Amino acid sequence: MTGKVWLVGAGPGDPGLMTVKGLNCLRNAQAVVFDRLVNPLLLKEAPAGCEFHDVGKEANCHPIPQPQINQILIDCARRGLRVVRLKGGDPFVFGRGSEEALALREQGLAVEVVPGITSAIGGLAAAGIPVTHRHCASSFHVVTGHLQEGKAPQDWHALARLSGTLVILMGMAQIRSICSALVEAGKSPETPSAVVMRASTPEQQVVTAPLSQLAEQSEAAGFHAPALIVVGEVVSLREILAFSGSA
Ligand code: SAH
Repeated sequence: MTGKVWLVGAGPGDPGLMTVKGLNCLRNAQAVVFDRLVNPLLLKEAPAGCEFHDVGKEANCHPIPQPQINQILIDCARRGLRVVRLKGGDPFVFGRGSEEALALREQGLAVEVVPGITSAIGGLAAAGIPVTHRHCASSFHVVTGHLQEGKAPQDWHALARLSGTLVILMGMAQIRSICSALVEAGKSPETPSAVVMRASTPEQQVVTAPLSQLAEQSEAAGFHAPALIVVGEVVSLREILAFSGSA
């Protein structure tokens, strides 16, 4: 009998922000394959005897190549195990979850996706930044700051023209060039902007600045991945909405 893989979103960081369905999968798992972005507290939810595979990835470097991760999932499923592939945020938002799902389907293996709260939305919320607001942001755009080698860069001109909230994941290594590309493309240098590091965890830190000063201030504060870059009027609501504490 072959097993099954559940691609489960762990949410943005706070273990309480995982879905009930995801938690149930984890509590029934026989193997857990997890990333570095996953809060280690969640691993305690797996039952005794469960095997753990740490395939931790960080920012731009992938210590374990993707084909090898796919193979681990395939091998575990072929051994008949209930496998939880635990990924930060939502598995299908820049997490290569779709590649893993395809690799499993190609082998005829059962796979199910359990969505999670993406850091692009929930991480901002944890910092008191609503991704939309009726009066100032009627759309939001989530992009990666890190593109595959050889791929055309993001169309910053097109993105700068949009008035909605711009959220950039995996952008910390490029923060200077991203911010200046947006200003050069016509985005106002005064646009309220922020970097949210380790959103929704006790280590969360936020720096806010006008777009033209964001890179400098974030670097001065020593910010690094994992962090979200957010550009848009909604950032100014943080002054009123920033909250702390948990349920
Ligand atoms: N699937 C994930 C994103 C994976 S890409 C999701 O839906 O959230 C990894 C990037 O996500 C990081 O480089 C960072 O930009 C962002 N990220 C994930 N968790 C974060 C957190 N707790 N705080 C800030 N940024 C985070």
